[in-house]
Amino acid sequence: MISAGLVTSGLLEIYFHRQESWEHFGLIQKESADATASKIEQFVQEIARTMRAATKTREIVREGLSPDYKWELRRLLVNSPSITAAAGFDLNGVKHAEARRLKPFPSQDKWNSVIHAALEKAKQRQFHFGPVYFPEEGTFPEGAGPYMTIAVPIERFAGEVIGMLVAEIDLKYVGQVISSIHVGKAGHAYLVTGSGQLIAHSDLSLVLQKRNLAQLDQMKAAFQPNSKEPKPIALVTRNLHGEKVFASYALISSLGWAVLTEQPIQEIYVPLYASMLRTSGVLLFGLGVALVATLFVSRRVVRPLETLRQGVERIRQGDLSTRLELQTGDEIQILADEFNEMAAHLREAYSDLERKVAERTQELTTVNEKLVEVSEHKSRFLANVNHELRTPLSSIIGYARLLRRETEGQISLLQRENLKDLLRNAERLLRLIDSLLDFAKIEAGKMEVQLEPVRIEELVQGAAASIEPILNKVAVRLIRDIPSEIAPLYTDREKLRQIILNLLGNAVKFTDRGEIRISASQEDGDFKLAVADTGIGIDKADVHRIFEEFDRGRLINDGSYRGTGLGLAIVKRLVGVLGGSIIVESEVGKGSTFTVTLPFKTREATSL
Ligand code: ADP
Repeated sequence: MISAGLVTSGLLEIYFHRQESWEHFGLIQKESADATASKIEQFVQEIARTMRAATKTREIVREGLSPDYKWELRRLLVNSPSITAAAGFDLNGVKHAEARRLKPFPSQDKWNSVIHAALEKAKQRQFHFGPVYFPEEGTFPEGAGPYMTIAVPIERFAGEVIGMLVAEIDLKYVGQVISSIHVGKAGHAYLVTGSGQLIAHSDLSLVLQKRNLAQLDQMKAAFQPNSKEPKPIALVTRNLHGEKVFASYALISSLGWAVLTEQPIQEIYVPLYASMLRTSGVLLFGLGVALVATLFVSRRVVRPLETLRQGVERIRQGDLSTRLELQTGDEIQILADEFNEMAAHLREAYSDLERKVAERTQELTTVNEKLVEVSEHKSRFLANVNHELRTPLSSIIGYARLLRRETEGQISLLQRENLKDLLRNAERLLRLIDSLLDFAKIEAGKMEVQLEPVRIEELVQGAAASIEPILNKVAVRLIRDIPSEIAPLYTDREKLRQIILNLLGNAVKFTDRGEIRISASQEDGDFKLAVADTGIGIDKADVHRIFEEFDRGRLINDGSYRGTGLGLAIVKRLVGVLGGSIIVESEVGKGSTFTVTLPFKTREATSL
């Protein structure tokens, strides 16, 4: 930003300097052109005044224009070196007296060519300034000029014009005035007529070559009639050599001439370049200072901030021992101190937390160990108690069946019903004990797995047959959907049967109408078995609980569906023993689908 500011101000400085120096040089040139113009005008007017003085003689008053007037004319030539010839004419254009430095110049023709216009002016008592001309080729003197004629009226008495005094002026004397003018170091001035003819130049040869400068821009500017737009006082253009110049002009309106001044453009640029150089120097210095300032700021601010950032990063990565060493003596140091304090607090809090976690973990481990011990006690107790219960219960059932057979037709209907009830309850009790036994065994880790090839179709058929008796065939349809192409599964037949029986048993128990569908599929090395029903469904809140032992979900106090809450717990553990998993999708009132996924093992692949 500092650099941008410096560069902008530098460029503006250069731009304005250029404008100013343009104006400055323009003014100088214009002044010098004006001064030269007035000098030249004075020079010509001076000659005209001298000529006018030569018309006011006693002879003229006494005799009018006579041949003797030549003496006066000769005196005029002696006094005015720039006059090369002079003659007195009367109002009819007749020459009465003449004096000249060189013969025969100017020719009679030249006199005649100016006389007519000059006479008109003389009659009105005005001076006449004739056009600038060069001697014709081959005439004497060779290579002279340019010349002009001036005519002034001759008055015998004031207001009585009797003729005119015509003189030829050698303009090389004007050239001397022009040559003495210097514009700047290498600049110069020159004089031109309205038609573009060069009258005087520091290089006389250019004048003698009769160069015409009508096409130059500065010429056009000088002679351009006054318009509403202000004329430029100076302009950048080409000179007669085609070089680029800075030029100005001044009009001599009484003569119809103009002074042109010019200066090589480089001369204008020199101070401009010097200023550019100076500005660049200042700019470089400024940039250097800006750089040093930036480095200083970076040392003072950016680096400490970077250190701070790294500290935060280390804390984020868990290095709570991070401390910052910043001695900047400003707000950043205060920030760093706060940071260090915060890190210390954090570290304290963290170690406190770690200590508490360790304590709790220790407590939990102890509790856990106790729980495991208790659980083992429970399992062992269950196993023992169950065994003790099972034996007498089996014999009760055996005797009850025997009694039912043997008392066939000998007891009353009521007694028979009672006996049937007894048997049914005993059998339920036995099933419950069996379940408890199974569960206890699993819990005690005494489950053995016996792998063998199992045809899933057969297994499902057997299970379906064993639940047929309890199926309400009128309202519920049992559908088996087992593709025959499923290869034999290498697993524990008994455990899988128990899984299927439990799931089918639940489906039958909780489904009053609709269908129960058992299906199997084989995908991506997995074997999937699904039991879907259109029964009462399971509450969303219960879905995760029902696999816990003795948890019956919302049926916990429901007498209409008998159960222990052990079936699914056993299923889940059996599935686990076989290396699989079970999920349930259900909606209350619509039904449930239990899906068991087992790894599909063949005899070759298994390592069990
Ligand atoms: P139990 O059937 O002896 O109560 P389970 O462990 O087999 O015990 O089932 C636990 C609970 O899961 C059941 O009490 C019942 O709420 C729910 N449940 C299991 N299977 C189904 C099913 N097919 N449809 C509806 N609810 C079921």
